[in-house]
Amino acid sequence: MFDEIFAFIKSLYPTQKTISLHEPRFWGHEKEYVNQAIDSTFVSSVGEYVNKFESMLAKKLGVPDGHVSAVANGTCALHAALYAVGVKSGDLVITQPLTFIATCNAIKYLGAEPLFIDVDRDTLGLSPLKLAEFLETKCRKSPEGCMHKDSGKKIKACVPMHTFGHAVLIDQLIEICASFGIPIVEDAAESLGSKYKGKDLGTFGDLGVFSFNGNKIVTTGGGGAIYSRDINMAKRVKHLTTTAKIPHPWAFDHDEMGFNYRMPNLNAALGCAQLEQLDGFLDSKRKIAEKYKDFFTTCYKDRIEFVTESKDCQSNYWLNTILLKNKSERDNFLQASHKAGIFCRPVWNLMTETVIYQDCIKENIQVSQELRDRVVNLPSSVTIPN
Ligand SMILES: *Cc1c(COP(=O)(O)O)cnc(C)c1O
Repeated sequence: MFDEIFAFIKSLYPTQKTISLHEPRFWGHEKEYVNQAIDSTFVSSVGEYVNKFESMLAKKLGVPDGHVSAVANGTCALHAALYAVGVKSGDLVITQPLTFIATCNAIKYLGAEPLFIDVDRDTLGLSPLKLAEFLETKCRKSPEGCMHKDSGKKIKACVPMHTFGHAVLIDQLIEICASFGIPIVEDAAESLGSKYKGKDLGTFGDLGVFSFNGNKIVTTGGGGAIYSRDINMAKRVKHLTTTAKIPHPWAFDHDEMGFNYRMPNLNAALGCAQLEQLDGFLDSKRKIAEKYKDFFTTCYKDRIEFVTESKDCQSNYWLNTILLKNKSERDNFLQASHKAGIFCRPVWNLMTETVIYQDCIKENIQVSQELRDRVVNLPSSVTIPN
């Protein structure tokens, strides 16, 4: 029924017997740098590759040196970022139902609760319109911050997520949140290299969080990073993620409770080699997306919709995405693709439907529910340049 699609996907990845969703590519100096890290004996939380990785990443993001901290993974990056903006037990943090569980877990680690606002159909991310409506009707500004009227709890932060590399309308979210005094932590875990109005995603919010897990566009094995716009915040984040140790040649002292979240040098070595290839990876992924887009504008166009970047977004197309007509079409598609040896994937179950977060406060989440039933991610690994 979908054979033409599977033949097309196989033509994108002609050398692979089974085609996975997203594989890492180690085509650069990975082995050389990792070996150097081993030879140096600095394999752990100190070493030149960690500093180099942070500088390289800052440069890629177009931000000054010193504003980026490399950490052990994207989840702990979110945790530390939310801790740094002051999220505490009993607070509320706004996010979207359509996200990976890490976004919500990081909120919960601090004893706070996520509060869910729907996504927009064309960005797959937090809806500015619905956010504004919620804040204006259900919250009030007070000297201590933004209060949610019904629960009497404080809304301490907002975490929009750039789904599959596509940008949310981040400038609008920033304007709305600013008027209520709510800091923004951007979950840019999936969107390294994506731009909105020419500026890198992850650099719009007060803080921005990245992931370098094995399935992301660039990997360090496991890894993450935190960008802070304010240099004093950046220093605090660095301090917090390195056990809040007071720098000293030999003395060991800590001036607050910190986290052992620093990225190991071994991982950073891999990451440096990967970052060197980011521009090529982005180029390849955008070309693959272009091919998918062309295919779906001619074939299956009344049954399948290919999700493209919005007007102001230049997406990294981390995972190419289609919308099937409904849940049963989607299930048929997934079944057939797996049978054909092509690993496609539905979107995550909504956070509002997990046992952990089902009782959290939520607004109308109709668009998220529709997307949950219709989204399929297609194989999106970088291919050899041709
Ligand atoms: C990958 C991801 C993270 C963090 O992932 P780690 O595996 O902890 O690095 C967070 N949020 C989203 C949306 C992600 O996709």
